[in-house]
Parts: sequence; structure tokens; C-alpha cells
Amino acid sequence: MLEIPETRPLTLSDVTIRLAERTLLAVSATVMPGEVLTIMGPSGSGKSALLAFAGGFLDPAFDASGRLLIGKEDLTNVAANRRHAGILFQDPLLFPHLSVGGNIVFAVPPSVRGRETRRALAERALAEVGLAGFFDRDPETLSGGQKARVALQRVLVSAPHFLLLDEPFSKLDTALRQQMRELVFSRARAAGLPAILVTHDSADAEAAGGAVIEIGGEAKP
Ligand code: ADP
Ligand code: MG
Repeated sequence: MLEIPETRPLTLSDVTIRLAERTLLAVSATVMPGEVLTIMGPSGSGKSALLAFAGGFLDPAFDASGRLLIGKEDLTNVAANRRHAGILFQDPLLFPHLSVGGNIVFAVPPSVRGRETRRALAERALAEVGLAGFFDRDPETLSGGQKARVALQRVLVSAPHFLLLDEPFSKLDTALRQQMRELVFSRARAAGLPAILVTHDSADAEAAGGAVIEIGGEAKP
């Protein structure tokens, strides 16, 4: 719908994250366009820290080494807002002061010009996930599943180069969770985006259908 996003592999090269002298995780992996790498680990194992490293917003309390690459481009020292990461968290985090459509228009890249064009893009994005006619709604009036779909479309209209998924299904009820998994993974595949999913739920890993790396087995010196 927008310009075709660049689809290059995403590489974590010898990424090690430490907290207070303790190694939380050490990961090396390449994720091909349209594929999902799942990082599985219990609560506190450093899953969110790893995505924060990849997104460029890791808290300085952590010590990280290693590199993040998209294709051959090294993003390790690139500012978060220039990495073109599409991020989904457990909560949809819609802006409460904007309409549903406003939340999506906000994410349309500035290179797409003209109020009407930007609005039309957002309307199409809503229609794609069964939310035609929801543009002017207050996000607060949406169900959990509807908010999750708006959050997904907000990420996708931003034309990301890769996806970072931080347990985005964990707060949805069972039936909805399966639907959202299918929607997120099929849209990521269709857009040819490499994705890293972190989760403690092995059913997420199964649904993602890609490689799985387990972290946080035991504390390393
Ligand atoms: P997960 O997402 O796997 O549950 P996190 O990446 O959030 O784990 O956290 C990994 C570890 O780092 C946990 O022990 C957590 O308490 C700690 N931690 C998280 N954020 C910070 C921070 N800003 N400063 C210090 N420690 C943190
Ligand atoms: Mg977490």
C-alpha cells in the first residue's frame, strides 16, 4: 500500500547483554525477510532488554555488546528513530488524545504528502483489518482485539524495515490470541519483513513457525 518496504535480513551478531556483571543472554542469528525468529525465555530473562537493544533504547543500566545489522547496514549506533523498527508491545499503546484514524495517520511517513492522501492510507489500513468506518472513533471505545489490530496497522503503515514483537499476544484472551498471531505473522510475511518475537509462551513460537532460541536457562558467570 505504501512504497514496498526494503526487505533485507536482520542480523544479531554476537549480541550479549549483561546486568550487574551477570550475563542475561548471548544471541547470534540472522532472520530472513518474511521470517520470524522467536526468542523464548521466562520472565526476567532479558527478552525486553534484547528488543530494546535492537530498537536502540536499551536502558544504560544494562551492558550490551555485539551488533545489529539490516542487510549489510550496521544499525548498532544508529538512533532509535532512524532504525525503521516496527515495534509491538503487550499493550496496544494507542494515543488517547487522537482518534483511531489519527493514531494511524501519525505513523504514515512524512514522505507521504497531503492530508487527504494520508487519511486515505489510514482508512485503507483500517479496512484491511475489518475496521472500515472506525476512523473517527475514540480508541477508548474499542475492544481489546480491535485496539490490537489498530496497533498492528499503525506499525505497518510506518513502512518499517523489521519488526520487534514483545509478547504482543500475552494479554489477549485465547481465541483472540490465535487470531492475532495469524494476522500479525501473515502480514509480516506478506510485507517481507524479518521479525523477532520474544515470548514465554511456546504456543507463540509454534504459531510463528520459524527458528526458536531459548534464553535464561541458568545464570551464567
Ligand atoms: P523479560 O522481558 O524477559 O521479562 P527484562 O528484559 O524486562 O526481562 O528484564 C531482564 C532483567 O533486567 C530483569 O531481572 C529485570 O528486573 C531487569 N531490569 C529490567 N529493566 C531494568 C532497568 N531499567 N534497570 C535495571 N534492571 C532492569
Ligand atoms: Mg519483557
